[in-house]
Amino acid sequence: MTDKELFDLCRKYGSEALKWRRKFAALLPEVEKRKLWRKKGFYSIYDFGKRVGGISEIVVDKVLFLDKKLSEKPLLKAEIEKQGWAKVEVAARIPVEEGKAVEMVQSLSKSTLQVYAKEVIDMSEKGFKQKAGSELQPVTFKLDSQTHFQLKKFQQKLEKKKGRSIPLGLVLKELLELAPEGKIQGGSRIPVKQKRELYGKYKGKCAIKDCKNPANEFHHTKRFAKDGTHEGVVPLCHEHHQIAHAGLIENEQDDPKDWRPRKYMKPNAIDRKYLKNLKMANAL
Ligand SMILES: [Zn+2]
Ligand SMILES: [Zn+2]
Repeated sequence: MTDKELFDLCRKYGSEALKWRRKFAALLPEVEKRKLWRKKGFYSIYDFGKRVGGISEIVVDKVLFLDKKLSEKPLLKAEIEKQGWAKVEVAARIPVEEGKAVEMVQSLSKSTLQVYAKEVIDMSEKGFKQKAGSELQPVTFKLDSQTHFQLKKFQQKLEKKKGRSIPLGLVLKELLELAPEGKIQGGSRIPVKQKRELYGKYKGKCAIKDCKNPANEFHHTKRFAKDGTHEGVVPLCHEHHQIAHAGLIENEQDDPKDWRPRKYMKPNAIDRKYLKNLKMANAL
């Protein structure tokens, strides 16, 4: 057996074992409710967990506690079996409505959720009031007649599709979200000089204030930028990069040191592709 074959087998068996252990753990609240362990001659639910499923007392406790905590949230609870109690436990701490939390559990890795949860909780504890940045503001600008015509045409199409009138500001927003991040995604084409400057500026660390992780990825905050533009590129750690592509940053166009977490996922078309690719890569 080659090293690669051995490693592949380890990963395969490891992930299968994990999958079945999650399913086992998710059964424990029902076992406890029925006191099945007593009927079957075990000393306690802990004894049952350890001897039947190889699960430690701490984990049994956590699963039972989580089950109680989520008694009003059946959808999130159902994710314990699929995504594992540890990940759901993190999601359960995030102060968002259940559906949003379920979406996060399904799309983000555990470490990303942990980083995000900490930031959102910090923010709500500070009693942060949202800045006026997201309110609508009047903007005046000039357009050539051709572009104006195309914009109007797009507006009509959009209004037809959505069955209601849509102001031009929202039409533009829609267009920006449709536009591709361009060929610059992935970071490989960012000029070495710029990379070096960014590393220097952030001392090799993630650009997010308070994040101590090393920056190992470059992120284009202007995903709608034209090809070849490397404006707004910031170095991020893997977790914050995922957070950005989950649309979990309220004000991504601001300096990363001022970034605030958003309370629900709002990925655009490019972000969805990014998250999907990441999920597939992780499943390999
Ligand atoms: Zn990115
Ligand atoms: Zn980070």
